[in-house]
Amino acid sequence: MIIVMSPLATKNQIDHAQGRVREFGLEPHLIVGAERTIIAGVGKEKPGLMSHLEVLDGVEKVLPVVAPYKMASLEAAPVHTVVKVLGFQAGGDRIGVMAGPCSVESREQLLELARLVKQAGATALRGGAYKPRTSPYSFQGLKEKGLEILAEARAETGLAIVTEVMAPELVGLVSKYADILQIGARNMQNYPLLEAAGESGKPVLLKRGPSATMDEFLLAAEYILKTGNSQVMLCERGIRTFEDHTRFTLALASVPYLQQKTHLPVVVDPSHGTGKTSLVPAMTRAAVASGADALMLEIHSNPETAWSDGYQALTPGLFLETVKSAGVVASALGRKLG
Ligand code: PEP
Ligand code: MN
Repeated sequence: MIIVMSPLATKNQIDHAQGRVREFGLEPHLIVGAERTIIAGVGKEKPGLMSHLEVLDGVEKVLPVVAPYKMASLEAAPVHTVVKVLGFQAGGDRIGVMAGPCSVESREQLLELARLVKQAGATALRGGAYKPRTSPYSFQGLKEKGLEILAEARAETGLAIVTEVMAPELVGLVSKYADILQIGARNMQNYPLLEAAGESGKPVLLKRGPSATMDEFLLAAEYILKTGNSQVMLCERGIRTFEDHTRFTLALASVPYLQQKTHLPVVVDPSHGTGKTSLVPAMTRAAVASGADALMLEIHSNPETAWSDGYQALTPGLFLETVKSAGVVASALGRKLG
């Protein structure tokens, strides 16, 4: 159930409405928007509850939420959430661009790519310091050293840093360096990790599990939202299908679908979604055309020598061209890339 407070509601009225929600056995969660506050009442609803809440001072309306994901649903916050960190913005009139290597490999590599990314108009720098690898014998990331390098790149360029956190006990450490915590596809349903990331208060980029349905994806986001952290982005990064001409199948219809169901910004990762450099530029433009609020792109100065995911990395030249042509699509839609 969603209790929409009037824009003029006072703090006392909001507190009182929350108290009433609690008295009726529901857990109230506040969603504080720019214009108005919404209270999501989560739990088993008693009959007649809506009419008890509708009459409270400061309450504009009370809505039932049919979707299983209460706080993520569009009904919970009819205005789409915009996530802003430093110069990065996902949602509204801007399409954020997060770009960088799959893995942080060295200080020189990252700083060179950070400068390039910045020059091309990206607003966030990605780079894995803790890497979820299929084989335990593959490179696992530079760990804290990688985080230090990312922070150095932010200090020089002002780019927001997005990097993966793989375990709840690492959330504290990764949060010291990162501006946005990435939850990888393999961890989409690691619920203790989702809660720990939510409690950090940092914006969270939640990647879709390779076999997750939309409801499972949105319910995973709900775990983060339930901690009181409303800065959640959903990232479509491809799913596992019978198809084998691409690494994953980039399910772009999820972008408009999610935007009909949730107020959270939707990000597309055409790099992991295709797993092939040559397919990334076209799918980046398609992602923008589908309504994505941000993009995540992997780049490398010399993909052949990359320590991970080189086969899907854009070279600097291709990255510049891709951002330029995707920018044209964005302007046709009245939005701005970067
Ligand atoms: C990544 O972003 O490098 C990554 C490992 O992504 P995913 O979790 O989508 O596989
Ligand atoms: Mn990667």
